[in-house]
Amino acid sequence: MLEKLFSITDVGIIRTVRILGMKFEFLTSIEFAKNVFRTIRATTPLDYLPKLYILVAEHCNDNCYGCVAFSTLAKEEFYDIKTFEQDINRMSELTSVGEVTLAGGEPLLNPNIISFFELSRRAFPDPNIKIVLFTNGLLLLKQKAPFFKAVLDNNITVFPTKYPDMDWNKIEQYVGSFGVTLQYFTDMGFQSGAVSNKNERVSGKYPLHLDGKCSLTPFDSYSRCGLSNGACGVMRNGKLYPCTVIAGIRHFNSHFNQNLPVTSHDYIDIYKVANCKEILEYMAKPHPFCKYCDVAGRIASFGEYRKTTRSISEWTT
Ligand code: SF4
Ligand code: SF4
Repeated sequence: MLEKLFSITDVGIIRTVRILGMKFEFLTSIEFAKNVFRTIRATTPLDYLPKLYILVAEHCNDNCYGCVAFSTLAKEEFYDIKTFEQDINRMSELTSVGEVTLAGGEPLLNPNIISFFELSRRAFPDPNIKIVLFTNGLLLLKQKAPFFKAVLDNNITVFPTKYPDMDWNKIEQYVGSFGVTLQYFTDMGFQSGAVSNKNERVSGKYPLHLDGKCSLTPFDSYSRCGLSNGACGVMRNGKLYPCTVIAGIRHFNSHFNQNLPVTSHDYIDIYKVANCKEILEYMAKPHPFCKYCDVAGRIASFGEYRKTTRSISEWTT
């Protein structure tokens, strides 16, 4: 009799409570706690910017499925070294960073890569601040002694993504002959769903919803997003973008003739902000572009590495 008047059932993350024929649905307590945790993580301004990504080259010499930086869709484009010098000095005046990552696209395509090492280390001389070369490794065997000397002199961490079908032993031996050691995902202290049990890269999917009508609200997408709150801030030409998706969407728009807008609220001008606090508070808020990110539809891993066919479906729901 009591069961007819009152019942609780849990299906997945939804708890259904029935009272006198009325039905109420809630998140289960575990999912509720997870939501609270995610929201606090994403919206609490930090004391420093954990990662500053520099897109040294927008384009890439590899062809990964659904590249989250849209580099497979980008035309050849390099960060101008003079602009970079001003921008990195401005960032060092403004804020402390945990790590500077020279990335892309493929950063080793940039003929000035040694100057990027030197200018980054000059701007952030504290040896506790890691300066990372985030590379696909395809060009490591082509680098000569001056490159490796600059790596050592400027205390650069060479951090390749371990793609399958590459002779990593040969690459390790070659860079090792110059005194350089490679570091991989697990060496850097974290595991990722994006690597296989051989520590090699596997593919996943970060889809966009072209009409901006995702199943989650923009706030929930932002809170659940692993790239939120400065996890992946991208500096380019005097601007700081909250993530690689917003920074790179212009390549998607241009390649597929789309117009997913990047508004003036989707980045911050590093020459207009007064101080570090302004940057960190900006980073800890959802951005208008978050409405296009189908975070609930993300696939961390297909369990295998895939090449791109440059079909729009690699980036859309
Ligand atoms: S995921 Fe990295 S290596 Fe692959 S295409 Fe994109 S930028 Fe290049
Ligand atoms: S736009 Fe928002 S939801 Fe999408 S990757 Fe950037 S921070 Fe995450």
